[in-house]
Amino acid sequence: MAGEAAPRPMIFAADLLLPVSSPPIRDGALLVEDGHISTVGSLNEVRNDNPEVEVRRFSGYTIIPGAVNTHAHLGFRRGDAPRGGSFLRWIRELVQRLPERDAWLAEASRSSAREAIECGTTFITDSSPYGDCLPALAESGLAGIVFAEFFPFDFDTAEEAVDSYEETLFSLREGLPPRVRVEVSVHAPYTVDPESSRLAATRAREREDRLSIHLSESPEEVQFVLDGTGGLEDVFEVFGVRADWGGVGVSPVRYAESVELLGPNTITAHLATGILEEDIKILARTGSAAAQCPRSNEYLGCGVSPMPRMMEKGIRVGMGTDGLWSTPSLNLFEETLFAARLYGFDGETGLKLATLEGARALGMEEETGSLEAGKWADFVVIEAAPEGESPEQEILEVAADGGVAATVVGGEPIYDRARDAS
Ligand SMILES: [Zn+2]
Repeated sequence: MAGEAAPRPMIFAADLLLPVSSPPIRDGALLVEDGHISTVGSLNEVRNDNPEVEVRRFSGYTIIPGAVNTHAHLGFRRGDAPRGGSFLRWIRELVQRLPERDAWLAEASRSSAREAIECGTTFITDSSPYGDCLPALAESGLAGIVFAEFFPFDFDTAEEAVDSYEETLFSLREGLPPRVRVEVSVHAPYTVDPESSRLAATRAREREDRLSIHLSESPEEVQFVLDGTGGLEDVFEVFGVRADWGGVGVSPVRYAESVELLGPNTITAHLATGILEEDIKILARTGSAAAQCPRSNEYLGCGVSPMPRMMEKGIRVGMGTDGLWSTPSLNLFEETLFAARLYGFDGETGLKLATLEGARALGMEEETGSLEAGKWADFVVIEAAPEGESPEQEILEVAADGGVAATVVGGEPIYDRARDAS
């Protein structure tokens, strides 16, 4: 950082190191310089080559890449979520209670970020109305993206709506910490009209911005896009808005393609209801990525996404927790373990989904997601050091169950209860 001396190089070592992008290393170590990994290898090797560098050794622990959360909302709090079971009833209550959120948003978003850190997240994506959770992410020490959600209410034309949105977007981008970005979110097919969606997406693509959308999340959304009914058409009635653009006779994915929302920079969240083979083909052909939130989908009565099929078809798939009004925790490893049990993934697949695959879904794999020379030193320390051939399953289970002892982002421990033990 400008004006500050670069931190001293440091070797971090543990009984086991799981780089995810390469085989496990017993008594493994990372050499970290200027926030980046410069060497991955055995402790002996790394120490012999760098005898002057201080070693921090975590005995009885495993080092893995930090979790990459591809879809979350920091701006909700635990304990008073709207009732689940029906997406429509849930979102109606959420919309009614939006005004009350101002009173506790700052505290909730800070505490959500803290929870994510203590559960081993190093890179998070928040989606919040006009990026209102940016302060919490920016001060948290996490790397990540705030997707500033766009709601084109109160405007006469799509152009006015998008111009005004972009003014906010560009101002949010000023003075950000080096590893925090602000990108575009067109909230959902039932909240943003086709013209505004198309214009916001086209301009985002021209700037090479990332674009996040909620897509094919609920049965009600599928019905809205197909025939214009289902209840979502008047969910924003309190704001004087009626969604009269539904009823286009196709699936949400096909609709999203028709208004140019899809592409390699697009991350579609949920895809839980009504995804047909044809939709999977569209997602694959357009190069769109998928953020999967199976616990939220279950809570909201939204069904089960055909995640394995999407992976088979080469779609980039990452895990997301969603926010505390639709999920029990911001623990991405817990979310991933839930998915692994739901779909029968093995531990190796699970660990990869939670880390490297999430980074790929977000187009961040050059920076983070695995322990490789050249990437940021984003890793977590897990309270276990399994001896067997496939340690990944146990590591995923321990991480999911609160066994994260330290979270390190860009070489800086931002959570560290392993200090006494090492
Ligand atoms: Zn969401």
